[in-house]
Amino acid sequence: MSAQESAGRPASVPLLDVARGNAPLRTEFVAALENVLDSGRFVFGPEVFELEKQMAEASHAKYGISCASGSDALLLALMAYEIGPGDEVIVPSFTFFATASAVWRLGAKPVFADIDPVTFNISPEAIAAAITPNTKAIIPVHLFGQAADMTAINAIAAAHDLWVIEDACQAVLAEYDGEPVGAIGDVGCYSFYPTKNLGGMGDGGMLTTNDEELANRLRLYRGHGMEPRYYHSVVGINSRLDTFQAATLLVKMNKLAEWTEMRRENAARYNELFRAAGMDECIILPAESADHKHAWNQFTVRVPQGSRDHLRKHLADHKIGSEIYYPVPLHQQVCFANLADHGSLIETEKAAKEVLSLPIFPELTDAEQRVVVESIEQYYEAVNKKAVA
Ligand SMILES: *Cc1c(COP(=O)(O)O)cnc(C)c1O
Repeated sequence: MSAQESAGRPASVPLLDVARGNAPLRTEFVAALENVLDSGRFVFGPEVFELEKQMAEASHAKYGISCASGSDALLLALMAYEIGPGDEVIVPSFTFFATASAVWRLGAKPVFADIDPVTFNISPEAIAAAITPNTKAIIPVHLFGQAADMTAINAIAAAHDLWVIEDACQAVLAEYDGEPVGAIGDVGCYSFYPTKNLGGMGDGGMLTTNDEELANRLRLYRGHGMEPRYYHSVVGINSRLDTFQAATLLVKMNKLAEWTEMRRENAARYNELFRAAGMDECIILPAESADHKHAWNQFTVRVPQGSRDHLRKHLADHKIGSEIYYPVPLHQQVCFANLADHGSLIETEKAAKEVLSLPIFPELTDAEQRVVVESIEQYYEAVNKKAVA
């Protein structure tokens, strides 16, 4: 326990503190980085292939293909399936921008489908309703670390001959019916952006698949479509994970299962504390299905409309970090205004007005969680007093 904590109540609670996870590993990081420095193998060093192997294993996939970011992983998956002008890809609107921009960038059309209000994940019914003769693929996002409804999504895909590209950027080690995400669909996309559950010291990404032919095409596309050297059969991109990133990620990979467990314990503790305080009457706690293991990249509550931003300000005033993922659904973004023939996405629009993500990182302490819960309690006590007065 730090001096500050033993002195009493934590004075502030950060949304995320990556230094707490990294500090104990400093010696290992330095050794791993020195190793790369001395080897001089900055691109495609052995650490890159080792990480590809370990990420494939973690996803129960045969192949791991590294790349420069989660955004590139999505782009490469679509490129390898030769998705382009005239094609449609069904995506959620309630997600990070990259899920849809990868589709747009290739000249194809992102078709936005609404979410299940309980899990925040893309709704299979909405996917089924969005299919047209031009639909080529579905990109379910395992949002906040919870797997999308993959049984239903794979069944729809099989019936209509569509590719399923899992956006698992927030969900490494999450499980669906006991099976890790990443290879439940045709291909999985991961990000090593520092805020993800397996975060690097910069950008990085990974694709996972059981399809050997697809794995070969992904490698082709990430390396300028060049095979053999200086011969190009297709136009690819340059998207590599560098060896320094892979070396630091391998150090963290050893800790990932433990960190995921710590996130799960934190989520369970929030649920206990919020319920004990009666706060589950004021805010809606995130739901975790008993059949699927949530990886808790975010602990996202719903705050009744109109008070979310006030509550967030109250937390900020008390030095408690929180964030809104995501305030503007993608179908309402200015850059996608010309795609606006999707009708309204009622649950997506409602979620965007109500969601609030609270600190959940592995090293978050019990005392810090109590501060978060007490602060929210205080907010509602004040609101209720005003209502009575
Ligand atoms: C982070 C993220 C991405 C993009 O990953 P980058 O590595 O930042 O490019 C894509 N989709 C989702 C759902 C994400 O959370």
